[in-house]
Amino acid sequence: MKSIVTGGAGFVGSHICDLLLEKGHEIICIDNLVTGTTRNIEHIRSEHFTYIEHDITKPIYFGDKIEYIFHLASPASPIDYLDLPIQTLKVGALGTYNMLGLAKEKGARLLLASTSEVYGDPLVNPQPETYWGNVNPIGPRGVYDEAKRYAEAITMAYHRYHGVDTCIARIFNTYGPRMRADDGRVVPNFINQALKGKDMTVYGDGTQTRSFCYVSNLVDGLYRLMMSTEVGPVNLGNPKEISVLDFARIVIKIIGCDSKIVFEELPLDDPKVRRPNIERANDLLKWQPDIPLENGLIKTIEYFENIT
Ligand code: NAD
Ligand code: UDP
Repeated sequence: MKSIVTGGAGFVGSHICDLLLEKGHEIICIDNLVTGTTRNIEHIRSEHFTYIEHDITKPIYFGDKIEYIFHLASPASPIDYLDLPIQTLKVGALGTYNMLGLAKEKGARLLLASTSEVYGDPLVNPQPETYWGNVNPIGPRGVYDEAKRYAEAITMAYHRYHGVDTCIARIFNTYGPRMRADDGRVVPNFINQALKGKDMTVYGDGTQTRSFCYVSNLVDGLYRLMMSTEVGPVNLGNPKEISVLDFARIVIKIIGCDSKIVFEELPLDDPKVRRPNIERANDLLKWQPDIPLENGLIKTIEYFENIT
């Protein structure tokens, strides 16, 4: 089985590469390192693993047979996509177009890594896949949300009009080792602030909620979806919802530090609630996450302790 992983040097992509190797796949990892790093894949020493540095907004051709394309390339952290708005729109649009073209040419099955951000600042909680969302297309987060919505639309168009075998995963907040310490997302921010005894920066009043899924649970869900015949979209995430303020308190408690919580301005269009309805993943893929937040955090904290 030969699989391409776009964004394979990123956080989630590198964990997919690990899982695919375990499952006996031959892997071509494509990344332009805009937010990823080869450090995430340097532990992989295998004749079945090839890394290609390439920007997928430009076409790429392969002679060999390709069976699966895990399409994850895209900046994913709010500070990354706010820094890289045009690249984010281009990889969602042109990058996805190129990968769908490759899937069509090769007869490969393509999995699109979409996001809970397609639901925007949701007016329905938890969010089922049937909810169409509440996105501000011209707000700062629009570059990511609309890129992913477009990516979903073109994926369905290739599926319907060209018969390409595709599936869409809507990924909710995922955390774990290999997130960048400075990627600005709440998990690395809070852990690194707490490890250094710095103030914990809660944006807004901290009543906004998120639901955090440990990365090994997520990649298991992505793999199950890819190996199924489902088209999706399928939500993948942990349905245990928690406020950002409570999350800060949990990190402080686990690390055992005396960091103070300070309140900073809430970014524009920051979703007030987020929680996946995972009935579909449960029914169709027999999937549900089983790693409790505290356990996943302990592993993630260990990772950050060792790299700092
Ligand atoms: P990440 O930034 O760690 O990884 C993304 C990777 O894509 C990076 O290695 C980056 O260099 C690469 N990339 C970006 N543009 C590229 C391009 N034009 N050509 C080639 N490579 C390119 O982010 P992540 O958290 O691992 O997210 C991976 C995917 O999962 C993204 O598509 C993201 O939207 C999706 N997702 C992640 C989460 C999460 O919580 N981690 C939640 C929802 C969706
Ligand atoms: N957040 C926070 N402090 C930080 C970083 C993030 O309070 O230092 C909040 C952010 O405003 C959001 C939530 O934590 O409400 C999750 O943010 P993240 O950037 O991880 O991802 P998002 O879910 O917004 O895409």
